Amino acid sequence: MILVSACLAGLDSKYNGKSNYNEYIEKLVREGKAIMVCPEQMGGLPTPRDSCEIDCGDGRDVLSGKSNIIDSKGQNQTEKFLKGAEEALKVARLYNIKKAILKSKSPSCGVGKIYDGTFSGKLVKGNGVTAELLIRNGFEVITEEDMTEK
Ligand code: SF4
Repeated sequence: MILVSACLAGLDSKYNGKSNYNEYIEKLVREGKAIMVCPEQMGGLPTPRDSCEIDCGDGRDVLSGKSNIIDSKGQNQTEKFLKGAEEALKVARLYNIKKAILKSKSPSCGVGKIYDGTFSGKLVKGNGVTAELLIRNGFEVITEEDMTEK
């Protein structure tokens, strides 16, 4: 079983009320090979919602309390992101999952690169909060951009 970002499977869970539909991910879910999570919804954020970025640094800094996750209106949403990451980890453990395919660049789901906190589309190296928590707990985590099947 694989953990996947719900927006990749076609759920309209994205901040703007849309999805990041990916045919292969949807197929995994349809075939019962993948379980969907949306950490931001699971942490209590509404959909649609204001877009959020890690203020400075990456998921490691958020998990260690050195950085926050701020929405485009300046509200601190860190607690909800942390809650969502813990809930996603809980799901992964319940299903005895070892691997996750998550949405690239997201402050929750991104792996290897994320938006830099300026809401200007610039990227920095690092993982989102949920991706970082999963990696710390021994999960293999990639994004849809890393898949050989697209
Ligand atoms: Fe998709 Fe992850 Fe953002 Fe949810 S938190 S909309 S699953 S990228």
